[in-house]
Amino acid sequence: MKFKLNKGDFVQVIQGKDKGKKGRIIKIMPEEGKILVEGINFVHKHSRPKAIDRQGGITQMEKPVSVSNVMYFCMKCTKRTVLKGKTLQDGSKVRYCKKCNEIAEVK
Ligand SMILES: [Zn+2]
Repeated sequence: MKFKLNKGDFVQVIQGKDKGKKGRIIKIMPEEGKILVEGINFVHKHSRPKAIDRQGGITQMEKPVSVSNVMYFCMKCTKRTVLKGKTLQDGSKVRYCKKCNEIAEVK
């Protein structure tokens, strides 16, 4: 499975309970086709108090979401978009916003 998104990309949820929310990708799980996004798909988890965890009780943590439930979100044109790849004249590979041509990443 080929992923169009990379760790650190800013995405918006397009379906599910967190629809419309945005966040940055923390982790990519290619085998499962899932990604972990900062602030998205929070679940409440009951945990026993530990020395390391000052409060104990309920903690919140993100759960992975399906990669098909999110789209790249362009900060420049503030729209959901698709990234396209191209190679520049100097040989560097970039990904850019299909809508406004803003370069998202240079490799
Ligand atoms: Zn854009």
